[in-house]
Amino acid sequence: MAAHGKFVFRVFAGNFVRNATFLKPHTASATLQTTTIGRRQFSTSNTGQTEFDVVIVGGGIVGLAAARELILRHPQLKFAVLEKEKELASHQSGHNSGVIHSGIYYTPGSLKARLCVEGLDLAYKYCDDNNIPYKKTGKLIVAVEQEEVPRLEKLYERGQQNGVRGLRIIGADEIREMEPHCRGVKALDSPNTGIVDWGEVAKSYGRNFQQSGGQVFTQFEVTDFKTTKESQGNSAEGLKYPVTIVGQNNQTVRARYVLACGGLYSDRLAEKSGCSSVPKIVGFRGDYLLLKPEKCHLVKGNIYPVPNPAFPFLGVHFTPRMDGSMWLGPNAVFAFKREGYKLTDFNLRDTVDALGFKGLRKLVYKHWQFGVGELWRGFNMAAQVKQLQRYVPELRVQDVTRGPSGVRAQALDEEGQLVDDFVFDGGVGELGSRMLHVRNAPSPAATSSLAIAKMIADEVQNKFEL
Ligand SMILES: Cc1cc2nc3c(=O)[nH]c(=O)nc-3n(C[C@H](O)[C@H](O)[C@H](O)COP(=O)(O)OP(=O)(O)OC[C@H]3O[C@@H](n4cnc5c(N)ncnc54)[C@H](O)[C@@H]3O)c2cc1C
Repeated sequence: MAAHGKFVFRVFAGNFVRNATFLKPHTASATLQTTTIGRRQFSTSNTGQTEFDVVIVGGGIVGLAAARELILRHPQLKFAVLEKEKELASHQSGHNSGVIHSGIYYTPGSLKARLCVEGLDLAYKYCDDNNIPYKKTGKLIVAVEQEEVPRLEKLYERGQQNGVRGLRIIGADEIREMEPHCRGVKALDSPNTGIVDWGEVAKSYGRNFQQSGGQVFTQFEVTDFKTTKESQGNSAEGLKYPVTIVGQNNQTVRARYVLACGGLYSDRLAEKSGCSSVPKIVGFRGDYLLLKPEKCHLVKGNIYPVPNPAFPFLGVHFTPRMDGSMWLGPNAVFAFKREGYKLTDFNLRDTVDALGFKGLRKLVYKHWQFGVGELWRGFNMAAQVKQLQRYVPELRVQDVTRGPSGVRAQALDEEGQLVDDFVFDGGVGELGSRMLHVRNAPSPAATSSLAIAKMIADEVQNKFEL
């Protein structure tokens, strides 16, 4: 059934070539859903259109930012976004800390660093232009013990190299002035860090996209990509849209090209068009605690630990939210269900898929103690509060309640290395040459979303003949 070829698996750190499979041609018919974004109703049935120049799979912040950028650059072309949920931004983009990161942590010269610093400015401007509320709360990265200070100073240097504005190291007295209930020997003050509701930002990108003529189809879960060789209905246009994108309920749309931004399912979408299963996505759930309203005076802005360089996660932090609440966390535990937000959520396929993957087993072997600790803290609120008391000693277990959770899409290679930067994948051959997969868009991809969108739009222009 399949032909074999080669595709380029492109990590920004380097290039690899692997074997791939390309799928057989197929045709089908269409029935599509109407979409609501926020309070507005956008109908797709007014055009009945099911053929597009570029279809974007995934209505998270990355897919929507890319869709918006593409339609702004190519207003003469037809674009659509396909999202499997009822609402846009239902997963990572709507379940995160809501921080506008300033770009301190990332390796100088990496895409992550460049895109975050650029993305922060673009995000503030976008929010100003589109009346999206945000707060420049600032952030302190706090060294509680003297032994953490050299790592803090390294972070300061990194931030400087990355072009982060306004950074300075402050001492214990100034920490007390800024955060009276926080203790620390030194801290890195990042005044440009802010907070925003990234889910709202993503939906706003979706509205911009639709106002520019783009179409959004929700409840369209893509299950397959196929190429069509025969002309549809004997029309000359028939071959113009050779990729058929099939949905779970047998809906179909046709496209010249496809951009996939599937977040926690980006590896499975890539496999569907013949790409390698690696990098594999493994879900890491992060649970937040909520500070009770009467205790919110304990923290003013963002308070973060000095991160452990062995892990990609920033460590549990104190994060003010736009609604005035205060989130504490998140931890990082293996998720037995991708897109599963409850402690007990379990999906057999996701679990077998992850545990059967050599890369995850190697990671667990290396870091099992950290993993067990995180799991324990996930179940035991007192243990999680103990971590937070390092920074705010007055905090008590009775001051917090369980809060929401998010699941991070962590890309892993076969050696158990966490893939840290953005990854594009695509291919050659009939189907692969018409697909571009964003396989890894890790935190801070929400902050960086408008900068990532520019990079993706450049890549789309390079790869496809638009
Ligand atoms: C706990 C947590 C905290 C974070 N904190 C921050 C932060 O403070 N600041 C920051 O900048 N970043 C943060 N991030 C990172 C940021 O949220 C993500 O990097 C970003 O949201 C990724 O966006 P995305 O569009 O790639 O993925 P998603 O938002 O997950 O979107 C992918 C979309 O694809 C859809 N999809 C998948 N498969 C299919 C299919 N077959 N058919 C149709 N649709 C499909 C999904 O339903 C989903 O809507 C955090 C992430 C987490 C999890």
